Amino acid sequence: MISDSLFQYVTDIRRRIHRHPEIGFDLPVTTALVCSELERTGVTYSTDFAPSSVVAYFGNDPDKRTIAVRADMDALPVEEKVDLPFKSEIPGRMHACGHDTHTAILLGLAKILKERESELPCNVRLFFQPSEECAESGAEAMVKGGVMDGVDEVICTHCEPFMDPGDLGIATGDYMAACMPFKIEFIGRTSHAAAAPELGIDAIRMADEAYHRLAALVKECFGEKKYVWNVGVFQGGTAHNVIADHCRLEATFRFFDQETAETFRDKAVSELNAIANRYGGKVKVEAEQSCYAVINDPELAGRFRRIMEEKGVARVLDLSSRMSSEDFSWYLTKAPGFLFRYGIKCEPEGQVSPAHSNTFIVNEEGMRYALEAFTEYIFGKD
Ligand SMILES: [Zn+2]
Ligand SMILES: [Zn+2]
Repeated sequence: MISDSLFQYVTDIRRRIHRHPEIGFDLPVTTALVCSELERTGVTYSTDFAPSSVVAYFGNDPDKRTIAVRADMDALPVEEKVDLPFKSEIPGRMHACGHDTHTAILLGLAKILKERESELPCNVRLFFQPSEECAESGAEAMVKGGVMDGVDEVICTHCEPFMDPGDLGIATGDYMAACMPFKIEFIGRTSHAAAAPELGIDAIRMADEAYHRLAALVKECFGEKKYVWNVGVFQGGTAHNVIADHCRLEATFRFFDQETAETFRDKAVSELNAIANRYGGKVKVEAEQSCYAVINDPELAGRFRRIMEEKGVARVLDLSSRMSSEDFSWYLTKAPGFLFRYGIKCEPEGQVSPAHSNTFIVNEEGMRYALEAFTEYIFGKD
């Protein structure tokens, strides 16, 4: 059980972070708080892996496994609309995804790990990560900085406003999708649309053909496998009587099967080039992986369920996969692990405000169970 004084500590920290939300890689106040709390707890840490990152170390036995636990620390450019006594003090910024709770839970965990360091069955590293929400991933930066060297397993949690406090949730296998956004730009040639259309190269026409062809191609490649392909930007032209020389498409592309996605990307690039060639135009394609799929390791997820049940921590719900993405997957490219959810629902009867909304609100009681889950999992028997 988490003591009331420790829970109070976690709640206080969470509220301090909530008052002062910071964005992306620019987290000076948040990281200063994390570092000073780790110092007060007597924990060794490093800030060298990426800007605005902190990594804390527990145990240093080369014969033991090393488990990493990750918390993201960044907020969102959202104006908070809920009147809490610890409401955001920075206009236009809000911890609307609950990363303040993740950071606070990890600082609570640091206290437990320090107190029980001699009992630790493994080495533990705590990752305090910047920039989960932004296009430039903090997890990617930390992984490229070498944070996963020597780590055997990596886990994390995310709060879930649709689940009650006291409930935990985990999926086995495919959980959150990989993401590879497409940016396509057709380049043609302007001309008078009525007097001399034959002298122009119509970028909108090329893009239109590409729009339909890619929708069919992605279906051919994936068949029954899960994916999302959606063109959200289709922009071209300057005037009704001018042949458009530019047309831009942007698509979101989410999936679980990496190999199929790469096959689709290669085929898409060659088809786009074929379309451009046929019209005598050009095409530029950008299709970079922004994150990989979160695939929960079945064995470790099973161990999590078993320990939660044996220790009576909380009810563990079975979660199904979702097509949203999480940059936690970058760590999973280096070691197996899992992401579990913990419930923070406020009003059992009322309407739930989803994450990223300006009325997002956390039932802090849920943090107890996430902290206890990490503790029991780390100290649990195999
Ligand atoms: Zn978020
Ligand atoms: Zn989040």
